[in-house]
Amino acid sequence: MKLNEPEHAAPDDAVARRDVEPVICYPTATLPAVDLTAYRAARDGWRKIAETLVPPRDARTFRVPAGHFFRIVSVEGPQVGDLNLWHEADLTERFYSGKTRALHGTHLSTGDRLWSCLPFLRPMATITDDTLDWYGFDRFGGSVHDVIGTRCDPYTNRLLSGGDYHFCCHSNLIRALAQAAGIGMDEAERHVHDVLNVFMCTGFTRDTGQYFMKATPVRPGDYLEFFAEIDLLGALSACPGGDCASEHSSDAATCHPLLVEVYAPANKPHGWRPAEPNAYSRRHGM
Ligand SMILES: [Zn+2]
Repeated sequence: MKLNEPEHAAPDDAVARRDVEPVICYPTATLPAVDLTAYRAARDGWRKIAETLVPPRDARTFRVPAGHFFRIVSVEGPQVGDLNLWHEADLTERFYSGKTRALHGTHLSTGDRLWSCLPFLRPMATITDDTLDWYGFDRFGGSVHDVIGTRCDPYTNRLLSGGDYHFCCHSNLIRALAQAAGIGMDEAERHVHDVLNVFMCTGFTRDTGQYFMKATPVRPGDYLEFFAEIDLLGALSACPGGDCASEHSSDAATCHPLLVEVYAPANKPHGWRPAEPNAYSRRHGM
């Protein structure tokens, strides 16, 4: 842990050094524009083609062809979900939470994209609707749908509390992926990755910069909607933390299922094409 008090005196020009204006690391004005009007027009006459109910403290997978939509829906009661995404035909292309955070910020909402890992770095999905977009940032600096947390896992739990707990999101995602991909648990574990924390309300404390969570504002009927930019295999865990008001990595919290719905549009969005892998030459100076 960091020390409570610094050991070194501030220099004479400390105020001036702290007063330097920040610069956005990755200005996004040059990214291809998201045409929300075209995406939403494609919902006219769409058809629900699949539904997957994710049981509490467990995970399920789902497949979404490129050009289709999917929704994660709150049912029965407040519940947080941990989302993993892979290219349907290549598990090595997976959601890159860190770069998505660098591009779009700590929390995602309508118009933001979920980017895939290097060397692909292309949009996997675009968020086309978010019924919690009214929440914004609260007085604690909290907001919903973060890409700052990682996923609850039994290793961190073991470090902090000493016991073995088998129904963390990490383990739930492993079991679901192993079954869907027909692979062993060890192989599946290597493909499970940092998540989009759907419906979770999180931030960093202002004084210590620590990751915090608080009860999610989600209510039954709320949803987060995505458009698949490539063929997707998704996995969603209904976190053992439930609404994440108090604790996770245990059976203490009240948990609810989550629903995943997949929709086929009557027509693809005007001008849309599946995303291509990043065009960088990959010579790396050689
Ligand atoms: Zn979890």
